Amino acid sequence: MSSNVHSLEMLKAGKRLDFGKPNREEVEEAFRTIIRWAGDDPKRPGLIETPLRLTRAFEEFFAGYGQDASLILERTFEEIEGYDEMTVLRGIRFESHCEHHLAPITGKAWVAYVPSGRVVGISKLARVVDAYAKRLQIQEKMTAQIANTIDEVLKPQGVGVILKATHHCMTTRGVHKPDSDLVTSRMLGCFRDNPTTRQEFLQMID
Ligand SMILES: [Zn+2]
Repeated sequence: MSSNVHSLEMLKAGKRLDFGKPNREEVEEAFRTIIRWAGDDPKRPGLIETPLRLTRAFEEFFAGYGQDASLILERTFEEIEGYDEMTVLRGIRFESHCEHHLAPITGKAWVAYVPSGRVVGISKLARVVDAYAKRLQIQEKMTAQIANTIDEVLKPQGVGVILKATHHCMTTRGVHKPDSDLVTSRMLGCFRDNPTTRQEFLQMID
């Protein structure tokens, strides 16, 4: 069980998180501190509402902590006339944040599986991507989480996940390499064992 799901389980059980979740006022105060650190006055008119807006933005950026990706995939369809070829949702746009700099990671995901008697609604694949994207992430871990969850819940013949993303901590700061993107993949089952299946999937990536 991943630590993220573990946190969610604790939330569901009404247990206080061991790292202590602050309230909204504490978060807004923290943002005022950061504004002062940047060198500006959080009380001036242009900035007075900024901590409130930032707190709301953070709720959106990190909404994935309140989502259980396994539940998203719970409802499946079995009337598929024996369909056992690859299903691929291509180019799923996602926005995430790197856990090292809290800088945006923007990119696309390709999610494929070969069903074993049942399929999920295609929008659910995109929602699983979002459930993991809307957290503090590193791309390698997010790629594995998406593939592992689909594999565990759907129990297909195989899963393939490829993520291609730009990391703003590399493009707008640090080494400043704006044209680079990072490609990560996780192949399970027939995607790992069967070179033809893997090749068929890779040909769908642009
Ligand atoms: Zn980073």
